Amino acid sequence: MLFGSGAGALHLCSLLVLFAVHSVNAKVAADRPQIRSSAPPRAGAGWDRPRKADDESAESAGSVHPPPPPTGTTIVGAPASEVELDHEVEPVIRHSTPTHRILAIYTGGTLGMVKKDGTWAPPERRGTLAKLIDSMSEFHDDGMPDLDMIEYEPLLDSSNIGPSDWVALAKTIAKHYYDYDGFVVIHGTDTMAYTASALSFMLEGLGKAVVITGSIIALREPFNDARRNLIASIMFASQLDLAEVCVFFNDKLLRGNRAIKSENAGLDAFSSPNYPILASIGASGISCHNRHQWLPPPVCRLRLHTNLDARVLVLRLTPGFDDSTIAAMVTHASQLRALVLSLYGTGNGPSHKSDFMDAIAEAIRKDILVVVVTQCPKGTVSLDTYEVGRRLLEIGVVSASDMTHEACVTKIAYLCGRGLTGAMLRSAMGENLRGELTGRAERAAVVAVDKDMRL
Ligand code: ASP
Repeated sequence: MLFGSGAGALHLCSLLVLFAVHSVNAKVAADRPQIRSSAPPRAGAGWDRPRKADDESAESAGSVHPPPPPTGTTIVGAPASEVELDHEVEPVIRHSTPTHRILAIYTGGTLGMVKKDGTWAPPERRGTLAKLIDSMSEFHDDGMPDLDMIEYEPLLDSSNIGPSDWVALAKTIAKHYYDYDGFVVIHGTDTMAYTASALSFMLEGLGKAVVITGSIIALREPFNDARRNLIASIMFASQLDLAEVCVFFNDKLLRGNRAIKSENAGLDAFSSPNYPILASIGASGISCHNRHQWLPPPVCRLRLHTNLDARVLVLRLTPGFDDSTIAAMVTHASQLRALVLSLYGTGNGPSHKSDFMDAIAEAIRKDILVVVVTQCPKGTVSLDTYEVGRRLLEIGVVSASDMTHEACVTKIAYLCGRGLTGAMLRSAMGENLRGELTGRAERAAVVAVDKDMRL
C-alpha cells in the first residue's frame, strides 16, 4: 500500500483551492494513525526557532508553538479575477518518522501536464501527478525523505499565476511550517522566478528550505528532466541548514530571488547571472561547496506577510519609443504606486528627450516610485557612471542595483503592501532584505578581490 492518506476535510471556497494531501511514501504504514492537529516540530528540523531570545517577533522565545495564523490579506491592484484566499487546508499529518519530512505543493506547470488537443495543459483529474509519482520506485527509496503532497485546484499554467496565488502558497507553507523539514513547490517555469522572489519577501525569518522546481518536459514523457528536477529538489529541501527560497533546475540550486528564466526550450532553463549558484548536483551527488553563499540562519521566528500592492508597471525602453504615451500614462495614472523603467546598460536613458524626462519628473512629483533596472541580464545599475544616468538620478529615480526584474517588482509589491511610502520606501528598495541585491560594500569587496586577482 503506497498511499498512506486520503483527502483531508477542506474548507476552501475560492477558485484556487488545495484539495488533498497524498502520501507518496512507501515507508508510511497504512495502519499508522493519522492525526489532525499540528505535529510537534522535530528537534533540529531547520532553523525553526528564533535565534535571539530578545527578538520582538519571538513572543515566547524558545517556545515551539507555531505563530498564530496570518490575517488581513490584501492584494491591492490585482486583477478582479484573482481571488483572495482566507481559508487554509486542514492538515493531515502522520506521527513523526525518523527520516526527514517534505511537503510538495503542486501548483501546475509542465512537470505534471498532459497533452490535450495537441497542446500541454494541467491535468483535469485530481491526484494525477501524485499517482504518477507514487508509482515510481525511486520516490520510495530508503534514501529519500518522507513526502506528502498537496495539489492546487485548479492546477495552473504559471502564466495564470499572480499575487493571490503567491499569498495562497505562502499561507500553505506557513500553515505547515512546523510539520515538515522542508518544502518543494512544483510550478510552471514561465513565472517561476516571480513566485520565488515573491515568496522570499513574504516569508520573513524563513528557517527551512523552500525549493521551487518544474521542468521543460513532462514527467509522463519517456525522456524528461522532470524526474531529476523533482528528486534533486526533494533532496535539497531536506538540507536542514538551507534556510531560503530557492529554484532548482537542471543541475543547479539558485537563490530564488536571483533566478531568471533564461531559456525556454533548453533543459538548463534557469540562471542566476548576478549571484553564484548555491549548490549543484552531479555524479558525486549533492555538492554544497558554495555553502558560504547561503543566507545565514534567521534571527526571528517565521513571519508571514500577505499584503501585496500590485499597482506596479514595468516599461522596457526602446530607442525611438513613444514618449507621449508615457507622459499620458503618468498624467492619467491615479492608482499607480511604482514605475519600473528597464533602461540601457548601467541604467541610462535618453536624457535629451524632454518629454521623457518631464514624464519621469511628473511621476515622481505624483509620489510614484520610479525604479531603474538594467536591460542587461548580468550587471548592476550604476546611475552615476554616465551623465545621462546622473540626470535621472537628479530627478529622483531609485536604482535597482543588481536586482532582477522579478525581484524588483515583487519587492515593491511587498514593501508597498507593508505600508512603506516616500523616503522610507526609496531607502528600503536599496536595502538587501533577502539576499536579492548586492550592497555597495559587498560590491566594493568583489571589485577589490577582482583587482587583487589581476595583480
Ligand atoms: N507554460 C508552462 C508554465 O509555466 C511552462 C512550463 O511549465 O515550463 O506553466
